[in-house]
Amino acid sequence: MGNILFSNVRIFDGTGEHPYLGEVLVQGNRIKHVGRGSRTVPGNGHTVIDGAGATLMPGLTEAHAHFSWNNSPSLESIFRMPPEEHTLFAANVARTYIDMGFTSCVGAAAAKPRLDCVIRNAINSGLIPGPRYLANSQEIATMGGLGDTSLPHVDVREMSFGWVVTGPEEMRKAVRMFIKYGCDLIKLNLSGEEMTNVAAEETPMAEEEVAMAVREARRRRLRVCAHARSAESVKMCVRHGIEIIYHASYADEEALDLLEANKEKHFVAPGLGWLVNTARNAGPYGIKPDSPLGIYYARELEIAVETMKKMHRRGIRVLPGGDYGFAWTPHGTNAKDFEYFVDMIGMSPMETLLRATKHGGEIMGRPNELGQLKPGYLADIILVDGDPIANIRILQDRKRILAVMKDGEFFRMPDMTPQRARIAV
Ligand SMILES: [Zn+2]
Repeated sequence: MGNILFSNVRIFDGTGEHPYLGEVLVQGNRIKHVGRGSRTVPGNGHTVIDGAGATLMPGLTEAHAHFSWNNSPSLESIFRMPPEEHTLFAANVARTYIDMGFTSCVGAAAAKPRLDCVIRNAINSGLIPGPRYLANSQEIATMGGLGDTSLPHVDVREMSFGWVVTGPEEMRKAVRMFIKYGCDLIKLNLSGEEMTNVAAEETPMAEEEVAMAVREARRRRLRVCAHARSAESVKMCVRHGIEIIYHASYADEEALDLLEANKEKHFVAPGLGWLVNTARNAGPYGIKPDSPLGIYYARELEIAVETMKKMHRRGIRVLPGGDYGFAWTPHGTNAKDFEYFVDMIGMSPMETLLRATKHGGEIMGRPNELGQLKPGYLADIILVDGDPIANIRILQDRKRILAVMKDGEFFRMPDMTPQRARIAV
């Protein structure tokens, strides 16, 4: 449709500037011009979309996405889905994210070795709609650690949720295999997870295994992320330069000092969505709030919130991204994490949205072209009915997300009613 001019919009540009009334011109797949006021763009020949005061902002980033988690209540029911159904399911999840305004997602592990890569490739080739996606490996797990779900008497790889390794050489082979499959990231399960056979504060992966994984990933310029709830696992991430740290609930003072000293290198995504909903809303799936596990998760949530407040005060980059994709955290409800950041961590809505936009561009590895509305940046843009700074919850409502554009193309056009849009040539 040629050049597109969004006019009469409140612009949240993701730079930290307070929203202002203005216009944004998109040319091809890039933002050409951002102006305050009206009639800032000379000439014509572009399609004008009159936003009628709606908020125009950068597309959102989810820092902890699992396209292949299938909204079921257990790890077993995720990996037992046959590959054909699973691929279709994940393709539909990709559509759900972009439909909710998430134009970038960091894959945080796949349920099958090639699944994330296949979905990313299908999105990039235009076969299916979806956000920009960093494809991850399967979770690399230690024997008996988080992700090793095979039975003692049926030791079959496919029966395991994660890719199980023992020792540096098996780790090297696993990382090289995922590199061969085309992953952008490698995921390591450094700590446990309370609902499994390994407690959250345990750290089953050995130093030499982590070192090998990071070395092999770096050799091929891949980035590494980790499931790291225990204090020790967070320190391991800093020691080895593991850039993306998931959860980090139990980071102690030493871990916080280490992180603060290296804050330019790391992102922390606590996955509050998972903790909140596992503690409070998983009753119908067997984790009643007053059961031992429910009580445990409420406690971890409390500790994680305190840890994230400390991190935020220390200037460590804490990003929303909630591990959605379980029965009680269905895909598409991801914007709840923004509400949790405001209500629980005490970040302002502005700070929270910057973490989902500007810092989103950073965690995607493209800080100079993603996550902000600036000339030269990629045109990943959403139009929101209302002011998400006044009420951050509106981003949870699909009806309020009037338009979604990725790479200069509309995934969803705004409703072309006379008051909202006019076509000018
Ligand atoms: Zn996860």
